[in-house]
Amino acid sequence: MLIDSHCHLNYKGVAEDQQGVLARARAAGVTGFLNISTRQSEWDAVVAVAEAEPDVWASVGIHPHEADAHADLGAEALRAATAHPRVIAIGETGLDYYYDHSDRAVQRALFRMHIGVARDTGLPLIIHTRDAEADTAEILADEMGKGAFPALIHCFTASADFARTVLDLGLTISLSGIVTFKNARDLQEIARELPEQRMLVETDAPFLAPIPHRGKPCEPAFVADTCAFVAQLRGVSREDLAETTSANFFRLFTKAQPPQVAL
Ligand SMILES: [Zn+2]
Ligand SMILES: [Zn+2]
Repeated sequence: MLIDSHCHLNYKGVAEDQQGVLARARAAGVTGFLNISTRQSEWDAVVAVAEAEPDVWASVGIHPHEADAHADLGAEALRAATAHPRVIAIGETGLDYYYDHSDRAVQRALFRMHIGVARDTGLPLIIHTRDAEADTAEILADEMGKGAFPALIHCFTASADFARTVLDLGLTISLSGIVTFKNARDLQEIARELPEQRMLVETDAPFLAPIPHRGKPCEPAFVADTCAFVAQLRGVSREDLAETTSANFFRLFTKAQPPQVAL
């Protein structure tokens, strides 16, 4: 088993050849895909892929870049979308103060709204955070105090302090192809030390192709390269890390069922 815990199969760069992309990933050993949405207008299309493909699941949520355009999205609309049997997660949501494509106060309000739906439904929250460690940590601690909810930090690029903070809050950390980059020494150190039961791997395709694919559009097949790289960092076999991270995936995303293997 090997799961790409975060990809955008409906984004330009992947969507044009979605069947080819999925076929290449399956040939590379990828057995599951979590197809992530970033705005309400794409929810139906993201879920439709998960309806058509037994090894694809879907998330529903609003990316912090899209917060301004969804300032009035109520929790009820999000909650209703999570009822679909192939929707196993909420997100991606969070805070992005690097690009600041949306007003920060609106980002924070939507982040808290997503947290409330995650707490009510029990579906894990997929968090995007960039240049916003302090506010992300503060909101997570505050909201956990009101009632626990399952969550992960996707495409982790933050500090070791932030990693400790979110691990202490019970979160899982997902590593993307960024960990393979030559200048990612700090992140590699974090990847080496992560508790085995609290880590996932992802591509964030079509973004962030890992070494040795840099410069190409990223595809879910490349999660195998990121998994192999992290396995080497940690001194385990790539097969072991693939099994561990897949088991972690199904333990966190309890609504997902592994596809049945045809005998
Ligand atoms: Zn993201
Ligand atoms: Zn993403």
